[in-house]
Amino acid sequence: MTIVRLTRQRQAVLAAVRRSQEHPDAAHVFEEVRRDLPSISLATVYRSLEALVREGQIAKIEGAGGPTRFDGRLDDHPHFICQHCGAVIDLDIELPDLKAMITLPGLRITSTQVQFSGVCGDCSQPNN
Ligand SMILES: [Zn+2]
Ligand SMILES: [Zn+2]
Repeated sequence: MTIVRLTRQRQAVLAAVRRSQEHPDAAHVFEEVRRDLPSISLATVYRSLEALVREGQIAKIEGAGGPTRFDGRLDDHPHFICQHCGAVIDLDIELPDLKAMITLPGLRITSTQVQFSGVCGDCSQPNN
């Protein structure tokens, strides 16, 4: 029984991260999942997120400042991080093959994270 329930919770967590365009943190995922599973705890959401990252089902975004953010999109894609509001935005730009530029012997590169930071469109409005 316990295993079935955990699986369902983990699936709900995975679905919430995949659905979101906002690269949610654990608290946001918790709010989302609670609508369907009101008895889920924040600790379970944390554990599920960590397990999903370990399993390679979602990605962790480092360097956004504040709580860790999660991404349901697994292809290598650059992010823009707003240093004012913390928004993490997918940049759909074509990057050169950065991995191919790295020729140190013995290195096996499994992923690339390219990050830009600055101020997002909303935060750069003069009336904000
Ligand atoms: Zn912003
Ligand atoms: Zn992303």
